[in-house]
Parts: sequence; C-alpha cells; structure tokens
Amino acid sequence: MTEKEYNSKISARTAVPPTCFSFIFHRKGGSHVNIMADYQVGQIVEMRKPHPCGNNQWEIIRIGMDFRIKCTKCGRSIMIPRSKFEKGVKKIVQGG
Ligand SMILES: [Zn+2]
Repeated sequence: MTEKEYNSKISARTAVPPTCFSFIFHRKGGSHVNIMADYQVGQIVEMRKPHPCGNNQWEIIRIGMDFRIKCTKCGRSIMIPRSKFEKGVKKIVQGG
C-alpha cells in the first residue's frame, strides 16, 4: 500500500461529520442518548455545576438559541447558551 492510499483510507474512516454521530447516538439508545437528545420545556435536568444555593437540578423553561433554566430549589432562572447547556447537563432527571 502506498502512503497516499493509506492516507485516503484513514481519512475516509475518520471523516464523519459530527452531526452523524449525534444522529447515531440518538437512534441507538444507551447512556449517551440523554445527553444528545432534544430537550423539552418542563424537563428537569441535573447540571454538573450546582447553583450557589446548593441545588443542581434545573427546570427548562425556554428553549431557543439560548436556554432559560430555573433552579428548582430557589426558583432563580438564568439564560445559558445551548452549547454550554448541553455540555453542562449531567442527566435528565424527569420529563424526558
Ligand atoms: Zn438555586
């Protein structure tokens, strides 16, 4: 095998768009799905970073470019960019 053939094989194997990955995870099931799944208003999610009040469960109250989530303990709501939200979610507690 020439070096060129080798490289084209490698790139063919690794050049999968990220959207395909999320699609696969979404369809397949398993522990990753909750993180990749679509979120819905009313869902309670557990975040990696707890609120200063000590609670780390949040209710989704608005979905868009930014998410608005409300602390289920003290009732404060914050805006958070979708990408940051998705990275911060540990699991969906209920409503998923
Ligand atoms: Zn709070």
